[in-house]
Amino acid sequence: MWRYEPLLPIDRPKGIARAAGGTPLVRSEGLDAVAGCQVYVKDEGEHPTGSYKDRGSAVAVPHAVAASGGAVGTVSYGNMAMSTAAHAAGLDRECVVLVPDEIPSVRLELIGQYDPTIVRVDGDYGALYDDALELSTELPISILVSDAPSRISGYKTALFEICEAFAPDVPDAIVLPTSSGGFASGIWRGIRDLEAAGSLDEPPRLYLVQTDTSDPLTRAFDAGVADPAPLTDDEIGETIAHSIGNPDPPSGGRALAAVRDTGGSVVSVSDDDIRAAQRQFAVDGGFCVEPASATSLAGATRLSERGAIGSDDDVVLVPTGTGFKELGTGDASIATERANRAALPERLASLLTDT
Ligand SMILES: *Cc1c(COP(=O)(O)O)cnc(C)c1O
Repeated sequence: MWRYEPLLPIDRPKGIARAAGGTPLVRSEGLDAVAGCQVYVKDEGEHPTGSYKDRGSAVAVPHAVAASGGAVGTVSYGNMAMSTAAHAAGLDRECVVLVPDEIPSVRLELIGQYDPTIVRVDGDYGALYDDALELSTELPISILVSDAPSRISGYKTALFEICEAFAPDVPDAIVLPTSSGGFASGIWRGIRDLEAAGSLDEPPRLYLVQTDTSDPLTRAFDAGVADPAPLTDDEIGETIAHSIGNPDPPSGGRALAAVRDTGGSVVSVSDDDIRAAQRQFAVDGGFCVEPASATSLAGATRLSERGAIGSDDDVVLVPTGTGFKELGTGDASIATERANRAALPERLASLLTDT
């Protein structure tokens, strides 16, 4: 992503930050039928810590490190935590990760490998976001949450890469899983930077996808209001897409403005839709994506059913994170068969004729 260095707020840093960005954009014909359009996959799972969060951390962590001698920190037990801890480790800077008390051990293992100070906080984890930002102003620690401006400027490089890959054309639409709205804000920032430079006449339509168990942006979009109303506890439910579903998205207003500005919309999908899409990503495309990321395909299917995207549209799906971190949590119902070694030649020879 450092080929866009002049458009970023810091000089090219050393170390792991250099590995952020530059993910492949893959024309994926196998997914056209299910998505109902011409599918391109921007595989953000191919990052050092397996998600697009590295684009933001690669800017925000070095930026914070240069600005002060203190620690960096974040409030997350998912991709944000892993990414922030990795980039702090790369700069040999102390990192504090605030996690909920009930954190699953596999998450601790993923985050802990970079050796941050992990603090399990009991009490209302949702309220920690505001507390942490306040601590950030009082203590020698920079808390880098989803809407830190330096993070968002790093995210815009995903849009630059997509537009550069399509040049001189522009994709018709981009479909993005969305929670806090940070990534959507970055994509929109990128669109406006290119427009301001006179390099983009008609921006791609931006479509955001949420889980129907927590979809404040879909509700606000459908109601035609500018800012999402925070959801109450009885309005939210459990989901397998645990990387998305912020009931009070800090960048929600900006995400909605991006959608309206580009002529897109916001849709919600169910856990069943997500499971099906995750499987289709693998079976029809060869991609291993996490459930939150599978919403990009589930959302495209929904949008083409509604007629919002057409079969000739070039549509970029953005699986935001790899599925590799999720392994071991499935139901192990994978079909296998047994064959005796002597019977193997016959079985293999029948593979192509049987189907
Ligand atoms: C963080 C995250 C999202 C949501 O991004 P926001 O910037 O919070 O909208 C989506 N997918 C994955 C895999 C993530 O880690």
